[in-house]
Amino acid sequence: MTSPILLAIEDLTVSFDGFKAVDGLNLYVERNEVRVVIGPNGAGKTTLLDLICGKTKASAGSIKFKDTELTRLVEHDIVKAGVGRKFQTPSIYENLTVRENLELSYPKGRNVFGSLFFKVTDEVNARVLAVAEDIFLSDRLDTSAGLLSHGQKQWLEIGMLLIQDPELLMLDEPVAGMSVSEREATAELLGRISQNRSVIVIEHDMDFVKDIAHRVTVLHQGRLLAEGKMDEVQANEKVIEVYLGH
Ligand code: ADP
Ligand code: MG
Repeated sequence: MTSPILLAIEDLTVSFDGFKAVDGLNLYVERNEVRVVIGPNGAGKTTLLDLICGKTKASAGSIKFKDTELTRLVEHDIVKAGVGRKFQTPSIYENLTVRENLELSYPKGRNVFGSLFFKVTDEVNARVLAVAEDIFLSDRLDTSAGLLSHGQKQWLEIGMLLIQDPELLMLDEPVAGMSVSEREATAELLGRISQNRSVIVIEHDMDFVKDIAHRVTVLHQGRLLAEGKMDEVQANEKVIEVYLGH
């Protein structure tokens, strides 16, 4: 039987000149789970994602993704292992179309032509169309990405990760700046894509968190303050004091 745990983080610590941005953290994410990480500014949320995706090296502790120890891998090997990460600001190619952005993100390793002579095959095409549909951009395939709305740009970037079919997808404040209807669509999108992958989301919008979270992890000063279902976390005195009460 495969383990229900996809990601196991134990005693994870990173210190920047003696300041521990993440401090002795344990965190376990299951397959097909949507985990939301909340906490005040400076709690270490973004640093946690930086550690998982290899952008920042851990000072101590372990990040096990299935059977692979991620703390020993460099960023692109972590991507290859099946971990995708979206940063706060979209990093799409504004001058290219939606279709071209998605094609470029298709994993080259799976294409016999390699990156230099990348040829769009039927397989790539089918995948691009399927992902475009997932991210509500089917009718925008030939639009320059620069002309998309802010929300559509965020979806495109999620699509550029989805096309790589990661088993773990990490999103840092994906609905910041989105309209109410875009937020609702994003919640629906995350629910759908977590049916065959795990998602870690950092978010401040509590209505959105309530919509998407299977479980919520609250960080404070680099440490785990509370963890559980949304209603448990919302009723937690310590959480109200340091975060929700504001
Ligand atoms: P959050 O995303 O929860 O708002 P961050 O993870 O961005 O918080 O930051 C946590 C703390 O770590 C902050 O005090 C921040 O200033 C500090 N920090 C983050 N990255 C670095 C770094 N590369 N060097 C020094 N300090 C950092
Ligand atoms: Mg942050």
